[in-house]
Amino acid sequence: MGIDVWIPRPSLEINRPLLINDDWQTLQAEVTACQRCQLSAKRTQTVFGTGNQNADWLWIGEGPGQHEDEQGKPFVGNAGLLLTEMIRAVQLQREDVFITNIVKCRPPNNRDPHHDEIASCNDFLQRQIALLKPKIIIAVGRIAAQTLLNTDAPLSKLRGTVYQLNGTPVIVVYHPAYLLRSLLEKRKAWQDLKLALQTLTTDH
Ligand code: URA
Repeated sequence: MGIDVWIPRPSLEINRPLLINDDWQTLQAEVTACQRCQLSAKRTQTVFGTGNQNADWLWIGEGPGQHEDEQGKPFVGNAGLLLTEMIRAVQLQREDVFITNIVKCRPPNNRDPHHDEIASCNDFLQRQIALLKPKIIIAVGRIAAQTLLNTDAPLSKLRGTVYQLNGTPVIVVYHPAYLLRSLLEKRKAWQDLKLALQTLTTDH
């Protein structure tokens, strides 16, 4: 009948107390065994995240695609190659940063993760942030930005601003998969990465 149903975005618990005695190994094992949402049924494997567990930079994408699901690592497809370039643009290598996603299992046919799937996975992401204690978070793409900032605003409105998540600066950048289709926006992505670099050097 053309009636829009407005589904409120569930607000994610960001200020949860740190689990005492949490550690990377326990967390990774929990992610590997996770069956909290329907995405677990169709995955080949979970994609926990990779990189330096003492990194200053945390890059958070949306969720694994087909290649990531097969290999168990984030951003390994074409978008991953461009993400690697984006990391190089801030004078770092992939091994210097930590890369993960909002959801740790592949949404079928690369659809957006649903709110309930994001909510089920949120605890894992918050624990990764608590363990890593990054100096800066890069929200890669719309889903990561909207989830972390708890908003429905479009990415074009969210980029270009420094946000704070419990005292950690958050910078929003276009998703590399989008940049591969919209080369004209690359310039804005480099501006956002420059903003990230400036933020890190002025904040610390
Ligand atoms: N896109 C993402 O957001 N994350 C990945 O890991 C791969 C593609």
